[in-house]
This record gives sequence, structure tokens and C-alpha cells, in this order.
Amino acid sequence: MSEPAHDLRPSLSVVAPCYNEEAALPLFVERMMDACQRFAGGAFEIILVNDGSADNTWACMRALATTRPGVVAIDLARNHGHQLAVSAGLSVARGERVLVIDADLQDPPELLGEMMARMDNGFDVVFGRRRARAGESAFKRATAHGFYRLLSRISEVDIPVDVGDFRLMTRGIVEKLNAMPEQDRFLRGMVAWLGGRQTDVMYDRDTRSAGQTGYSLAKMLRLAAAGITSFSTAPLQFAALATGLGVVVGIGIAAYVLRAAIAGETVPGWTSLALVLVFFSCAQLACLAIMSLYISGIFKQVKQRPLFLIQERVASPAPIGLAPARMPAIEEAATEKQTAA
Ligand code: UDP
Ligand code: MG
Repeated sequence: MSEPAHDLRPSLSVVAPCYNEEAALPLFVERMMDACQRFAGGAFEIILVNDGSADNTWACMRALATTRPGVVAIDLARNHGHQLAVSAGLSVARGERVLVIDADLQDPPELLGEMMARMDNGFDVVFGRRRARAGESAFKRATAHGFYRLLSRISEVDIPVDVGDFRLMTRGIVEKLNAMPEQDRFLRGMVAWLGGRQTDVMYDRDTRSAGQTGYSLAKMLRLAAAGITSFSTAPLQFAALATGLGVVVGIGIAAYVLRAAIAGETVPGWTSLALVLVFFSCAQLACLAIMSLYISGIFKQVKQRPLFLIQERVASPAPIGLAPARMPAIEEAATEKQTAA
């Protein structure tokens, strides 16, 4: 019996989030289709996700999806932000491989060729690393530079620097990503967290082909906060540091106050007031530090990430007790991939 049509997977899905991109979309779809035809080696789909645009992006997408085979248009109910628009696209992508790319042509679609070649060599994730960023303000370049380095320093996983969401992923990685239920989604960190064989290709980030950036300062700050809180407990550890410092300073103040009281160099009431203040300040800081320990535990728990992911399992084909007298040749060993949920 032949498989139903919806079970046939395209070899590649492209996911492009779009926010007010009506001017950039036609050229993007043109170049992306061209790159897919050259490098995808089979059927492909280009999923355009309209993230609550205020211009004619949706009308433009609909027109493209109805006239261009392989183009799929998805309309989100409102503006959910870049990370959720990409997540929505990933949830409907069916391809064996999935490329995430911005719709404004800052990420060159032609890099797909190199990314596919790397993946053919056994990589699970191939991300684009920005060598130069053309046409972006000095403020954006400086804040991005600082943020990536701060995050890679304090993060619990190794999040690569100068890397956005432009990346090619295997079906396996996308499925694991879709299964991560966390609400605050910082995709580049989540992909790093998944591990596996990851590599990069360098590229120069172009200027926008048309339109304006949809990343306001508020959206940039939200993304930075999601990145830090999802992958680091360093800000919570600040409470412990403050407690340590507070106790040291408090002991100093208490010693000074007591010495002054014994020497009779005080006015009545000052010693007791100062000691009460020092004691309760230190006690409050200590309580905050203890609470921050529990809060970081709760935060880890509510994210409900899998405890670990098994990349590969290798075992001899014969179960214990039934092993053949001689050791099986290495070539006979069974290899099987599996994921622990
Ligand atoms: N984008 C989105 N929702 C938003 C903001 C941006 O889907 O709320 C899309 C946007 O259309 C583009 C990508 O995310 O395809 C990157 O955004 P943008 O180019 O505005 O950011 P920048 O490149 O300036 O950092
Ligand atoms: Mg852009």
C-alpha cells in the first residue's frame, strides 16, 4: 500500500519569520527558491510566517503561496516576536532538514549550498557565524558584540558567539526543539543546549534588502533577558555574593559600633539601633540568598527540559548470554540513535 501524501517529507523546509516585510518578500522568495532548486536535491517547502505584520505582508504572502509551488504561508494571530514566529514555523515544517533564515535577505540564501555540504558530512546543526555586519548601527553592533560575549561567559551551555538564528538543522534536532516546552524561547541557546555535532560557516551579514528592522530596543532587551535567564543562574547567584559582602561589612560595622560603645563615645540608643540594622540587613540578605537557591531549582524544574539526550547507542547484536564464542567484527555492531525524554 502506498503511503498517504502527507507522510512524504520534503528534503528541505525553509522557515522565514516575517514582520512588516512586504517590500523584501518577493525578492527573498525568488532567491530562496533559486537556492533550494540548486542545493536541496528534492522537494522543498518555504514556510513564511507572518508575525502580526501591520503592513501588507500577509496579502503578499498569500499571493506568493497561491502562485509559487512549495511556498506555504502561515498567519499568526498577532505579533508574537521573532523567536515565537520561528518556533511556529518549526512546528509545521516537515522537511528532513530545516533552514531558519531571516526574510530581509541579511542572511544570504546562497549559503545553503555550503550548509548542506557540511550536513552531508554528518553534522546535526550548521549555523551561520557573522563575520561582518553591514549596514547596522554602531549601537547595534556594540550591544550585540557585548551581549554575545557576556552570555557565552555566564551561560551554562556553550552558546556560540556572533551567531543568530540562521542555521540548518536535521529533522532530529527540530523534533527535540519542538518537544522543549519552555515558554521563554531563546532558540540559539536551546539549539546549543541540545548538543550533538554542531559546526559553523562564516558569512558576511548584508544590509536589509528593503524595509526597516523589526527589532525595537524593547524587543532586543527582552531577547537578551530570555537568553540570560534561560541559560544562566548568574543573576541569582548575585544574591549570594551580596550576602557574603554584606556579612563582611556588617561584622566590621558591628565591631566599630561596639568599640565606640565600650569607649563611651556614643549617644544613647545609637549602638542598639546600629546593631539591629546590621543584624536584620544581614539576615534579610541571607534569606534572599537561600531563596535564590530554591528559585533557581524551581526555574530549572518548570522549564521541563529533558534531563539528558542520548546521541547514539552502540551495542553488539547478540544479547548477553547468547553471545557467540568469538567477538563479532566491529562492522557487525548495531548502531542506533535514541533520545531520552
Ligand atoms: N521578525 C519577526 N517578528 C518581530 C521582529 C522581527 O518575525 O517581532 C522577523 C523579521 O521579519 C526578520 C527577522 O525576524 O525576518 C529578523 O528581524 P529584523 O531584521 O527586524 O532584525 P535585525 O536583523 O535588525 O536584528
Ligand atoms: Mg534583519
